[in-house]
This record gives sequence, C-alpha cells and structure tokens, in this order.
Amino acid sequence: MSRLFTCSRCGCQRTAADLNGINLTATGWNDDSAAYCKRLAECKSAEADETLDWLLDALDADDAEDAA
Ligand SMILES: [Zn+2]
Repeated sequence: MSRLFTCSRCGCQRTAADLNGINLTATGWNDDSAAYCKRLAECKSAEADETLDWLLDALDADDAEDAA
C-alpha cells in the first residue's frame, strides 16, 4: 500500500513516484503542501496547461526553422 499525496496545483491524488516537491521528513510525516505532478501532461492545473501550450508553440517554431 503506497500512500497517496495531493498535487498542490490541480488537487489530484498521486503516489510519491508521480509527484515532485514532496518534503520527505525524518519523522515519517511527508509534507505535500508544495507537491506537484511530475508529468505536466497529467496535471490538471491551468498553470500546467499554459506551460504545455508554451512548449508546443516552441516546438512548432523549431519545426518552422528546420523547414526554412
Ligand atoms: Zn497536478
């Protein structure tokens, strides 16, 4: 049984393996207040959507350069 943590951006629950930013403490209490989805495509937050849009735009620009 792996514990689930909550993404602070989109609020979905994931295992520690799928999240970044979890503060693993020596007390065994893991702080997920700053956790966020490791894979942006799976994060449902508006911030992740904006970042993905930006990345796709950047990729399109690269393709245009190659074609020119
Ligand atoms: Zn998320």
